[in-house]
Amino acid sequence: MGIQFKESMKDLKSFKPAKVIQDIKDTYQIQEVIKLAANENTFGASPKVLAAIREIDDEFIRYPDGKVRILRNKLAELQGIPEEKYFFGNGSFEILSLLSKILIDEGDESIVSETSFGWYKSVTAIEGGKIVVVPQVNLRVNLPGMLEAITERTKVIWICNPNNPTGNYVTHDELKDFLSKVPNHIAVVIDEAYAEYATNEDFPRVNEFIQTYENIIVLRTFSKFYGLAGVRIGYAIANESVIDELFKVKMPHNVNALAQKAAVAALEDIEFQEKCLRNNIEGRNYYETSFRNRGLEFVPSSTNFVLVNINCSSKSVCEEMLKRGVYIRPGAEFGLENYVRISIGRKEENEKVVETLFEILDEQDK
Ligand SMILES: *Cc1c(COP(=O)(O)O)cnc(C)c1O
Repeated sequence: MGIQFKESMKDLKSFKPAKVIQDIKDTYQIQEVIKLAANENTFGASPKVLAAIREIDDEFIRYPDGKVRILRNKLAELQGIPEEKYFFGNGSFEILSLLSKILIDEGDESIVSETSFGWYKSVTAIEGGKIVVVPQVNLRVNLPGMLEAITERTKVIWICNPNNPTGNYVTHDELKDFLSKVPNHIAVVIDEAYAEYATNEDFPRVNEFIQTYENIIVLRTFSKFYGLAGVRIGYAIANESVIDELFKVKMPHNVNALAQKAAVAALEDIEFQEKCLRNNIEGRNYYETSFRNRGLEFVPSSTNFVLVNINCSSKSVCEEMLKRGVYIRPGAEFGLENYVRISIGRKEENEKVVETLFEILDEQDK
């Protein structure tokens, strides 16, 4: 008969993150791989981060600070938010899991947007919740549609802003109107993994909402802009009542000592942050100009990636790109058959991606 697993395990599938570079080298027998598929910061991390990690003497023999005090103080000061409103996790992936743990009972509903970050669905399914998908309108998150999808069983609404994989965002006024209409017993999670790149004036100023609404939970990460994806650290900003619940379910020592130290150093290096932002803007302009010149439609991006319509199967084009040592993400993985999502990297990486992509499109056109 074998071991009897939980009922909720029956239909669960394991989450498929982007491939790691070694996978590709092994599969395609190539030495060099350009990976612009997981929105990592290929500009690297601040030299101050490396220095801070090197400075660590024997602190690592002790368990890390469960309250993450130094980083908590630093963020609270920088963002002007009371430090009691912060919670830290082993990346925002973990915090999303913990949120579903404290919010979703079997049969509860969670609302997600079509074409968004896949983990919201996974964490709902793991807790035995029901996923309610709201179609997008012109590749934009449809907030009015999400309001209409609310039922008596709705427990949480997940909004990625700017949205991954489209790269666009809902504005301050749109979100404000939405929040004023969501019943306050429903949690609204705003995943701002790319907020540091969204310099648009009408991008939501969530600080204002956190003061007004007790049901909003904002997520940020050090994995993207700060270049610390391999170190694993992210945080939530929310009302103290949410933070208290998260502390009850979190694993002890979930945020390791190196990650805490690295994150503090990353926040302190303003010069490096400005450099990354400039590099990203230049790269984004380069991609957008290249696509425009070739007549390819793209979604204007407020992130470190671009979504572009290549008018043919993303699956086969990306497979061909892999063979030539370039890894970008096929939109097929997000339900967008003819699109590809390209992370913005260093100048030479971006140029290689465009060159290889256009080469393959030319070959197909023949
Ligand atoms: C990359 C990403 C995450 C994961 O962040 P980690 O902090 O590395 O766990 C979460 N949400 C979105 C939308 C992302 O794109």
